[in-house]
Amino acid sequence: MPKILLVEDTARLAASIGRGLTEEGFTVEVVVNGGAALPRAAPRDLDALVLDLGLPDLDGIEVLAALRAAGHQMPILVLTARDAVESRVQALEAGADDYLVKPFAFAELLARLKALLRRASAPRWAPLSCGNLRLEPDSSAAHIAERTVPLSPRERSLLELFLRRQGETVTRPEIHRDAFGYDFDPGTNVVDVHVAHLRRKLMGSTAHLETVRGRGFRLQAGATTND
Ligand code: CA
Repeated sequence: MPKILLVEDTARLAASIGRGLTEEGFTVEVVVNGGAALPRAAPRDLDALVLDLGLPDLDGIEVLAALRAAGHQMPILVLTARDAVESRVQALEAGADDYLVKPFAFAELLARLKALLRRASAPRWAPLSCGNLRLEPDSSAAHIAERTVPLSPRERSLLELFLRRQGETVTRPEIHRDAFGYDFDPGTNVVDVHVAHLRRKLMGSTAHLETVRGRGFRLQAGATTND
């Protein structure tokens, strides 16, 4: 039974999401502000977090950044009333794995949350490598030579997919389906944001993540560069 922490200050919304998730077999706890979210996450027994960005005390982005800074790796789905692309990108940059813009259908929240949990508990596999880049089965981090590079659950899924298909072009729909677990195109720039993130983390490695114009992305081994 996955344990979810819901951080939402709007009581009605918190109650309806909580009820829906409970009916789906989740264990749900609700906190109503950012300050309470951090100590609640500390025992590291949560499987995922659903986090409203507009909170009365700490901004949701600050909560996210603090959780990731403390090394929490659980999937985080962000809820935002703000329709500005900027705040979504900010949230993804701060370590969110996905976001939903309010108002949303409960079914969509459920689908996204299940997709995140599926990725986070993906079966174990043998180490994968490309050049001096290595991804271990049990670790959420990648290794570039002897250097450890922490990855978010989404970045790890993405890197795993690119490693398994290195040398091939991986399209956006394939990334949605095989890395993020969506059966549909969420119609956002979420792929580009995570690819940009991952690319930055691979800097200094001999694994190059190339853009294949109009088609997708391709991971290949080559010489060390800093681009
Ligand atoms: Ca709110």
